[in-house]
Amino acid sequence: MKTIVTGGAGFIGSALVRKLIKSLEYEVMVLDSLTYASQMDSLEEVSESELFSFSETDICDSNSLIEIYETFQPDFVFNLAAETHVDRSIDSPELFLKTNIIGTFSLLEVSLKYWRHLDATSKDKFRFLHISTDEVFGDLKENEPPFKETNNYDPSSPYSASKASSDHLVRAWHRTYNLPVLLSNCSNNYGPFQFTEKLIPLMIVSALRGLKLPIYGNGKQIRDWLFVDDHADALIKIIHEGLVGESYNIGASCEKTNLEVVEEICNVLDETQDTKPNGIKSFKELISFVDDRPGHDQRYAIDSSKINKELGWHAVESFQSGLRKTVDWYCEAIEKLPYQGERIGKSRE
Ligand code: NAD
Repeated sequence: MKTIVTGGAGFIGSALVRKLIKSLEYEVMVLDSLTYASQMDSLEEVSESELFSFSETDICDSNSLIEIYETFQPDFVFNLAAETHVDRSIDSPELFLKTNIIGTFSLLEVSLKYWRHLDATSKDKFRFLHISTDEVFGDLKENEPPFKETNNYDPSSPYSASKASSDHLVRAWHRTYNLPVLLSNCSNNYGPFQFTEKLIPLMIVSALRGLKLPIYGNGKQIRDWLFVDDHADALIKIIHEGLVGESYNIGASCEKTNLEVVEEICNVLDETQDTKPNGIKSFKELISFVDDRPGHDQRYAIDSSKINKELGWHAVESFQSGLRKTVDWYCEAIEKLPYQGERIGKSRE
């Protein structure tokens, strides 16, 4: 299968590309504009493969997209290119609207023109999978059931509003033009190669450097955590077996408060690090609380029973084992990681 992965130099995109090439032997073209969040190192494992190609392309650039589609002739397109950091979206929303909304629109337009000119067999085979987030559903109260695919959209931040908007466009291109699209809405991911501004890597990297571990508000905000490789498996399942026009929620039913997550990271580090920085006895001594994020959602939780039942996908990694793999990876990579000290005054998710 010839597969385009937009945002393939990012955290989840690169995990997907590694799987598509190493496990499925698909021919993959990564389209990525290489923003601050990209890490070409994450593709090192596959970059020498003859199945791999890369184009430094912005998904808003329709002319380049047209050329790439014409020469590469994709069967599948996974759209993961996005601006993804909620705090950055609060500071400067414009880029989020541009990439997440206009970029998705450009991809849909180019995909539609391309798809319409395919022969009948290729037309049947073609799929466009748009990767989205549980944040489009907004905020859950403590006693409310987890988000189902049928929940109303109610986004809170410029990031989630831009993702919600792109989801609506994708559905409209199916309803109006029959483009064979699928959508997925996933909970918080963690794992190797996540950019060091997001909660889990920020905490690991800060702890290893003996810096404070700043937690927003009281740390009781709840997120539902999924190991990145499980997410990549779910996306592969959806593009092959999902029903066109449908959306699938992806999660591991692993709800934890931010404080619990940081404490678990500290436990792993306490166990594995013989030498601790700045004379501390436990990494928990570094935990500190900072002013809450404006409009901060209190709880996200995903009901993934649809993908469990209809496609037979289940998360396989437990939080304990996934976190251990993640911490080990950051400990190993610490020297090569970009320093986020200037953004460290506040906790990031
Ligand atoms: P990321 O920030 O790590 O990577 C995004 C990638 O997209 C980067 O490589 C970046 O260079 C690229 N990119 C950004 N703007 C671009 C543009 N205009 N043109 C081409 N490439 C561009 O993001 P991620 O965490 O891997 O998330 C991938 C997708 O999954 C996003 O759509 C995000 O909304 C969604 N998602 C993420 C999570 C999570 O926990 N990380 C959870 C649910 C859904």
